[in-house]
Parts: sequence; C-alpha cells; structure tokens
Amino acid sequence: MVVKVGGSILSDYEVYSKIAEKLSSLGSEREVVVTSALKNVTNELLAGMERRDHITETVSSIYDRHLAFLYKFADGTNFEKAFQQLSKLSDELFRVAWSVRVIDEITPRVRDYILSFGERMSVVLLDAALRSYGIRSNGYPEPVMITDENFSEANVLEEPTSKRLNTVVHSTDSNVIVVPGFIGISNNGKFTTVGRGGSDYTATLVGRFLNAEEVRLVTEVPGIMTGDPKRFHGAKTISRLSLEEALELALLGVKRFHPRTFEPMFQSTLRVRVENLTEPGYTLVEGTCSDLGLKGVAIIDDAKVLSVESTRMAGKVGSAAAIMSEARDAQVNLISFSQPASETTIQLVVNSESSVKLRERLKSLEGKLIKSVQETDASAVSVVGCGLRNREVFKKVLGVSSGYEVISVSRGLNRVSVTFIVERSQGEQLAKELHGVVVNG
Ligand code: ASP
Ligand code: MG
Repeated sequence: MVVKVGGSILSDYEVYSKIAEKLSSLGSEREVVVTSALKNVTNELLAGMERRDHITETVSSIYDRHLAFLYKFADGTNFEKAFQQLSKLSDELFRVAWSVRVIDEITPRVRDYILSFGERMSVVLLDAALRSYGIRSNGYPEPVMITDENFSEANVLEEPTSKRLNTVVHSTDSNVIVVPGFIGISNNGKFTTVGRGGSDYTATLVGRFLNAEEVRLVTEVPGIMTGDPKRFHGAKTISRLSLEEALELALLGVKRFHPRTFEPMFQSTLRVRVENLTEPGYTLVEGTCSDLGLKGVAIIDDAKVLSVESTRMAGKVGSAAAIMSEARDAQVNLISFSQPASETTIQLVVNSESSVKLRERLKSLEGKLIKSVQETDASAVSVVGCGLRNREVFKKVLGVSSGYEVISVSRGLNRVSVTFIVERSQGEQLAKELHGVVVNG
C-alpha cells in the first residue's frame, strides 16, 4: 500500500504518533509512505527566495523547527542518525541560501534545488518518528522520481522512475519505506519539482509503478466534500467518486489537488482513498462512471467575461486563433470560452487579474478584426457527477440554471461536469441551489 502523509497535517510533533498509529492499523505487510514538507515550509522557502536578504533567517527557523520536533520523539542512536542527516542537509541549504543572498538572483533551477530541502528534511524526520514509535522504517530522502529539466513543473520519466522505485523498495525488508513526494532529479543530477501539491501526484504515480492496490491520501479533511462547507450549507463527504469525477472535481478546485493527481489511475487498477488522520469518513476514488449521481459543486467568484464583438469575424478562418493567441502571448489562462454559430461574439472567461492584461492586448486588434470588447463581472459555477450524462438529471440541473442570467454553458470530460458562467451577483445563489440538488437530489 502507498500512503501519502505530509504538508498541512505536519503541523506539530504530536501528529507523528498518530501517523505511526495509522500506519500500524492498516494491517498491510508493507507500506511506501510518500511525504511532503512540513506545514508552511514550501511557502516559507518560496517567500525566502523573494526576500533574499532574509533567506538565511528563514532557513534557520525551518531547521530549528525540524530539530524541535526531533527532540520531542527521538533519542539514542535514532536521534543521532536523524540529527546528523538533518544537519548535513541544513549545512548544504545554508550554503545555497548564502550564495543566493550574495548573488541576489534566483533561477528556476536554484528555486527547485532550494525547495527540495523541505521534502528531504521531512523524510528524515518522519522516518525517525516512525522508528521511535517502534515501526521498522527506512527513509530515502533523495528523490525517487526521475524527470526532465522543466523546472517547477517537471515531467516524470516513467521507465527510469519505475526502475528506481522498484530498486529502492526491494533494497530493504523494512515494513515502511519513506520517500519524498514533489521533488525529482534529472538525468544530469539536477533537483526538480513537479508543481505545487505534487506529493499527492507522486503518491498515485508510485502506486501505479509498484502495482499497489490502494493509495491513501491522508489530508486535513476526511475526504473530498460536495462543496466548500464554509459556503454551502449541508456540505458533506462524498463516499465514492469515479475517476472522471475525481479529475473534474480536482481541476475545478473543490479540493485543491495537483492537476495530475488522478492521472496515473487511468493506466492502472489503482484505488485512491482520501481520508483524515483521526476523523472517520473517507472518499474512495475508483473505476469509471457507474451511477447517476451528482457529486459536487465548485465556484470561481472572481471571473470576468470579455465579450469580443465584431461582424468581421463571421466565417473568417483564423479570427478565433488571432484572439486566442493574444491571450497566450499575454500569458493569460482561459477559464472558459464560447462562441455562437453566428460567430459575432467570442466570450473569453478569465480571472480578474488576467482580464486587465488581456484587455490591454486586445486593444491592438480594435478597429481591425474586432469592434469592441465588453467586460462583465461573472462567476463560473460547476457541477460534477456522472449523473449529468443522464437526460433527466441534466434536465434538472438545467432547470435550476434557467432561473439565472446564464452567459454560457460548457461540458467537461466525458460530460461528467457542466460549467455555467453567470453574472457575478447571481453566482453564489446559483451555486447554493445546485449544491442543494447535489445533496438532496
Ligand atoms: N511541499 C509541496 C507544496 O507545498 C508539495 C506538496 O505539499 O504536495 O506544494
Ligand atoms: Mg501539500
């Protein structure tokens, strides 16, 4: 079994005994534990790289936190070993931090190198904690993923990674093997990272390469919820999700997962369980669509619709491409876009920040290809569930939306999601009403 523990749940030393209990309770013969940096460490390292005159202070406070935890649970040779490993890593990190402070410049490669210490130190700590709680554990702080050198969003090279993982796992007979998530190493020995939140993705990938039956993602919440409980009354944990649904929910941000978290499942029979350390309840992600349920609602509040209007675009090859390439050149991500068959308008949905950049770019086309650009404050409200493939269920959802000023409608992967772009003043209400349908039918 593969278990991911890390990040925000690693907030104080007491959590470590709970992790040990959890692992012992799983009853599987061997567990590969993928871990990420302690709570806030990645953010602090990133902030330190921005405020470079303070970076050494940042590093020393991170090191102190690891040591303080270690003092709480380890002693004897177990303490000695982890202490040495942590000191060695922090010496290295201090040296890099100093040079960054002096040179006052950061490159993508150095950024990933610095971030890698968060995960590596966390592996040492977790391994030491598990041993102190009587678990036969072995920690491998160095990356198990071999990647290309696309720093900060590196792509995993499958064959060498699978090989390396299997070598690591078979080189020990300990019951638990702790490895870092999120970080990789290139063939040239450079540290890389696979994108924020990448340790969940690492865990599913490891699960696939090791032919595991189940991957457990231990998070702050007991499972994926039907919606944000702070916003939607009666939000609850979803008990089962198909792969497509999980992918859509993750991308829509019902829970912030790395976008590729569920991707490895498409090439395996892996099951993923999202759960909490102590609270009961979980979400099981497995298989493809098999029920007609609706699973969750997500909302993006700060969207803007840019309606590009012109009679010159109709029937003209390349007009959409011309507009879209402005978005690309402005480095703007499109949340959604649409065009009626009359081809008189193209609606681009972007977040508020991007909207300023994009409008500026589109000015260059005004008077030529396009006549004007109107901007409307909007929300993107999405519903996810295999039930949307059923006409009756879809009709019900559309029925709810008909009470609102809908600007556009689009469907997601295998039609298991639908996104309504509505005027912002109505977004929250529509999302709440749809959430009611999801929860109460
Ligand atoms: N530590 C990394 C991050 O904060 C990876 C992870 O938590 O999954 O993004
Ligand atoms: Mg995390």
